[in-house]
Amino acid sequence: MAKILIVEDERAINDLIKFNLELVGHTCSQVFDGAEGLSEGLKQKYDLIILDVMLPQYSGFEILEQLEGVSVIFVTAKSALQDKIKGLRLGADDYITKPFDILELVERVKAVLRRTKADTNHFVFDDIRIEFDNRRVYKNGVEIPLKPREFDLLEVLVNNRNLALSREKLLRLVWEFDYEGDTRTVDVHIQRLRQKLGISERIQTVYKTGYRFEI
Ligand code: CA
Repeated sequence: MAKILIVEDERAINDLIKFNLELVGHTCSQVFDGAEGLSEGLKQKYDLIILDVMLPQYSGFEILEQLEGVSVIFVTAKSALQDKIKGLRLGADDYITKPFDILELVERVKAVLRRTKADTNHFVFDDIRIEFDNRRVYKNGVEIPLKPREFDLLEVLVNNRNLALSREKLLRLVWEFDYEGDTRTVDVHIQRLRQKLGISERIQTVYKTGYRFEI
């Protein structure tokens, strides 16, 4: 997942963005004014910067002018078209105006990362590496062979991480909606995933519901 810098002087908004982006697996650093934003952006390589426009010291526009080769989504109260044009001309990847729907921001982040390829087609946690393109899973660098449905199930769990998924929903997503089998199929496959990958703690049983991949 991506390494993201949040430059936003309103702490509540900054925290809200961080909370939601970390929920979907990104790693976030926070800074709260323009000077910190610029120095942090120059110091470290981020996959994406969420950049407020109106900031103490330097504006988001001034910061972007100094940074090269980084994806930026501007977040600002200013909804004027002029600003939007200015932001995009400076090379911002996207633009979102306050007040914004946090899920919309999460979606835009996803879209920008997909475009910029920073959101690579693999997912790493603990000692596990999942490669979605070639459907391979490695534990400590050693490939663990998974059956096609086991891989599909793992992919669905990871893509919906931290969400409780009912057995019925998992059946629909993994085995397609017209599958006639029963939900014990899900339990059997979950068991196999836990054993093969040694990730019992990551795949939590949700009482009376189903399962949740926790990260
Ligand atoms: Ca601001």
